[in-house]
Amino acid sequence: MEQKLKTATLCVRAGWQPKNGEPVEPPIVQSTTFKYDNSEEMAMLFDLKKEGYFYTRLQNPTNDAVASKIAALEGGVGAMLTSSGQAANFYAIFNICEVGDHFVTSNEIYGGTYNLFGVTLKKLGIECTFVNPEASEEEIQQAFRPNTKAVFGETISNPGCKVLDIEKFARIAHKNGVPLIVDNTFATPVNCRPFEWGCDIVTHSTTKYMDGVACQVGGCIVDSGNFDWDAHAEKFPGLCQPDDSYHGLTYTKAFGKMAYTTKLVAQLMRDLGSIPAPQNSFLLNIGLQTLHLRMQRHCENAQRIAEVLHDDERVAWVDFPGLKDDKCYALAQKYLPNGSCGVIAFGLKGDRDTAIKFMDSLRLIHIATHVADVRTCVLHPASHTHRQLSDEQLRQAGVAPDLIRLSVGIEDCDDILADIHQALDKI
Ligand code: PLP
Repeated sequence: MEQKLKTATLCVRAGWQPKNGEPVEPPIVQSTTFKYDNSEEMAMLFDLKKEGYFYTRLQNPTNDAVASKIAALEGGVGAMLTSSGQAANFYAIFNICEVGDHFVTSNEIYGGTYNLFGVTLKKLGIECTFVNPEASEEEIQQAFRPNTKAVFGETISNPGCKVLDIEKFARIAHKNGVPLIVDNTFATPVNCRPFEWGCDIVTHSTTKYMDGVACQVGGCIVDSGNFDWDAHAEKFPGLCQPDDSYHGLTYTKAFGKMAYTTKLVAQLMRDLGSIPAPQNSFLLNIGLQTLHLRMQRHCENAQRIAEVLHDDERVAWVDFPGLKDDKCYALAQKYLPNGSCGVIAFGLKGDRDTAIKFMDSLRLIHIATHVADVRTCVLHPASHTHRQLSDEQLRQAGVAPDLIRLSVGIEDCDDILADIHQALDKI
């Protein structure tokens, strides 16, 4: 029996298994095309009758090695890398929704995803209903329509740090014959594997902890292979009915558990083309090799800092699922028993300007439109990432106007705390 490897081992070893005399790091196959000696072989590749590489927009060996590492980490059957997390969430939905379709999404999601879903997908004729993830199953059920094709949420929301009740969302999705898609960017598979709780498809912005040092923008979609598309064939014609652009091939019949991933690659990536550069996938893989170590340190530092902020009288509130009185503490204990992530949301007593004064007084911690890398950074979403949202939309997306998002890095925690203390003394 093959040994079932643990997460730390998968971070280091999965994806690329060098043969005798081959390099230990996956080679960067920085080539657009692949050469063949006879045209019949190439034709078989185009017809999906044979596996192989012919053009990097569709598949590339470096990208595939890294995708299969992430698939192994999540416990999925297949994965596809994209050039950004935005592309990953777009493709994950667009692979099963078309004009006239609808999906249900938690309103506690990243601002960019909120715009993509609420504005841009709407222009393509795909509508969504935002629901409060804390609402009862009965209330969430009311958001479903006959044309609903998916449910979406974030394991830990950006920037609100709310933990999704994955089992509840999976139950509601499956009751309605649709898959649950979870963006697992903040938790990473080191701290949560959503498939173990009933989720069907996972997405990532690999730009964040997976990369970990802020050197590439990327995304990934992983399929558990568990959702039975054919059992709801009328809802998913794109997967269960012949694809004209592939000579009438039906993905579920031809590829079984790999149907969703094959359609992602063969149809969406072929037509839309948001493939990462192999060089970026190589860099991403370097990050993945230490993901398990970094996550542990991010979580330890964030826990200590959240506790200090919580006890400081100048701080109005702190949302961090590792705090015992946090409203997501019980969910975090269930889904994230080894730690959540390094992101803390908090507000200072005072007004918007107090938040700005605090952030401008920081010396070590820098202001950045980013989270989840080794350097501690800070952002005021209402002034930065979410500035296009109205106050009402901000509230709906779980973002208070005074919310400061602190992304705790892996520096010495004493130094991070000293910087926070001196900045708090200036407000
Ligand atoms: N999903 C989450 C949870 C995010 O935080 C982000 C970006 O911050 C994205 C998706 C989008 O990812 P990217 O910036 O790689 O396009």
